[in-house]
Amino acid sequence: VFVVFEGGEGAGKSTQVTRLAEALKAEGRDVVVTREPGATDIGSRIRGLVLDRDKTEAPSARAEALLYAADRAHHVATVVRPALARGAVVISDRYVDSSLAYQGAGRTLPVQEVSWLSAWATGGLKPDLVVLLDVDPGVGLNRVDSRGEGADRLESESRAFHERVRYAFLDLAASDPKRYLVLDASRPLDEIAEAVRERLSGVLEP
Ligand code: C5P
Repeated sequence: VFVVFEGGEGAGKSTQVTRLAEALKAEGRDVVVTREPGATDIGSRIRGLVLDRDKTEAPSARAEALLYAADRAHHVATVVRPALARGAVVISDRYVDSSLAYQGAGRTLPVQEVSWLSAWATGGLKPDLVVLLDVDPGVGLNRVDSRGEGADRLESESRAFHERVRYAFLDLAASDPKRYLVLDASRPLDEIAEAVRERLSGVLEP
């Protein structure tokens, strides 16, 4: 079973990924926690190229899309597929929808083209469930700011960029409600974790 968490900056994805993984491990399940970009050795170098503004120039939009696709192709081939093949629950912090939202809607590359690129990179692997933690960019960016993580890079994108990303995620969820769970990221952490568990119980075998 393949579960993905998506959402804008400061939505609290990593907290909820950890919560879910701990709950499933406590049930004795084989759980693999992973993320994009940067879950593999190659991926962490790509993460540096796309995100480390102190060390590298900003890639052009198409180059950026290809770098994320390369990270994903390697991640799916070496981490996600092998884990799924042995029956593990794979929980990924970000996946294809992040590219549709950031490289597509955010950078205004044609979303259909980014979708084809992603399908090629993954060999068509789709998640069983996508949990979208929806957050107003103003609130989310403030949360990230207070943690001091990559604040410069995030502030270099306009508010409009982050708004486009948010609505792209919401549109994707609306287009396929069976595969998505949309949760308001401003709700209490326990409530969000509980809602995810409840929805997943319909997806996981007992
Ligand atoms: O989720 P995490 O904080 O690791 O994401 C790092 C950054 O990478 C985010 O700030 C997001 O802006 C960016 N990103 C992106 N396109 C993707 C995935 C992540 O721009 N496909």
